[in-house]
Amino acid sequence: MSNNAPYSFFKSVEKSFDKASKFTNWENGLLEQIKACNSVYSMRFPVKMDDGRIEVIEAYRVQHSQHKSPCKGGIRFSEEVNQDEVMALASLMTYKCAIVNVPFGGGKGGIKINPREHSTYELEKITRRYTAELVKKNFIGPGIDVPAPDYGTGEREMAWIVDTYASLKPGEIDAAGCVTGKPITQGGVRGRKEATGLGVFFGIREVCNMKEEMEKRGLTVGVAGKTVVVQGLGNVGYHSAKFFREHGSKVIAIAEFEGAIFNAEGLNEEEVFQHRKKTGSILNFPGATNITKSTDALELACDILIPAALENVINGENAPRVQAKIIGEAANGPLTPEADDIFAAKGTLVVPDMYLNAGGVTVSYFEWLKNLSHVRYGRMEKRFTENLNTHILSQIEELTGKTVSAAERGFIMHGPEEVDLVHSGLEETMITATREIMQIWKDNPSIPDMRTAAYVCAINKVGTSYAELGIFP
Ligand code: GLU
Repeated sequence: MSNNAPYSFFKSVEKSFDKASKFTNWENGLLEQIKACNSVYSMRFPVKMDDGRIEVIEAYRVQHSQHKSPCKGGIRFSEEVNQDEVMALASLMTYKCAIVNVPFGGGKGGIKINPREHSTYELEKITRRYTAELVKKNFIGPGIDVPAPDYGTGEREMAWIVDTYASLKPGEIDAAGCVTGKPITQGGVRGRKEATGLGVFFGIREVCNMKEEMEKRGLTVGVAGKTVVVQGLGNVGYHSAKFFREHGSKVIAIAEFEGAIFNAEGLNEEEVFQHRKKTGSILNFPGATNITKSTDALELACDILIPAALENVINGENAPRVQAKIIGEAANGPLTPEADDIFAAKGTLVVPDMYLNAGGVTVSYFEWLKNLSHVRYGRMEKRFTENLNTHILSQIEELTGKTVSAAERGFIMHGPEEVDLVHSGLEETMITATREIMQIWKDNPSIPDMRTAAYVCAINKVGTSYAELGIFP
């Protein structure tokens, strides 16, 4: 891609893929198949707006790969939505799922609208009509393709989707599994909302616990005391900031569209969120300094930078000025390949999106399993575990003649709730994936960066899956 060519997110994913495929042994044809987007559904449909005007809505659903079923990936509402972007995001979903061993192919959807410019009723009509279009073309279903929230969408939209799907498929017993990220009352799972942010935290914490990686960058082991800059105070940015703060890091800056704020003593994301809700802006937060140009926050001196907004925010132009030692890609595609090369040369550790933000889809997988099994996690074992733990503890106390504190008693006896199981499943997933990718990188020192190592991991997993399936017919 020359510097003057328009930015293509899909091309940038292909570029990273090609860079990594050199470190694998798959034949070209198979690599081409892994890379290709299998099905691209581009649609237009009319929606009557509140003022009686008819608007033609542009929307997409892309299924990048069916090497495992169903396809999985969010739906975004944004004015920037285009086919190239949805294709890129769908590809990233395939690789992401493979790395974290979530048995789905990649998919993604997008509706080209600015949700802020529509009433709730208009948004509901658009979402329901989009879902109906997907049903008509067999592009949605618990065993076909399962959407989820993404930029500009959340629980509310997922509830509309499941309701539309279920009403068009009466009697389908697993209908709730047609979409994830639903409200709990509609078949959602506890822990889904914070999942991506928590996954980002678990992934970065694991990297920060790697002594060798920290020493190379002059950093101490652990997340405690590290300075963090977060771009984006949406669901992912908010929860990433929350978990870093709760574990002793200092979130020194938060950036949003309208600007950024800085406080060397650390910011509390909930207070900032409330301030923004009240005043309509992140700026003028008590005790913080305003940064008028939002993107300047990316260039602040800090240990960890978390871009949690949109793609292409750190590129060949601003990457040389970024001072962070670790960049955790909470968003999808925040760095361009040019930025990657600059950071590899600088020794900045870029922890890549395609696995770091996999917390969302991992917990979506848990939600889907819950929907198919029709039972809440913990329902069968919580009481049993509590009874057993109570018994073991009383035996220990009787035999030793000593008693534990009330706090310890509560901790030991506690049987798992749904949210405990979901968080622990996520923690295990993120730790395992981080170690696996780092091992691939260590085993092959000519791999230039962690993203390439993550791609190698993904390509090998998807490649094995395709090779074992054979080519049909
Ligand atoms: N939109 C999220 C992502 O990009 C979640 C996808 C899902 O849960 O299926 O990973």
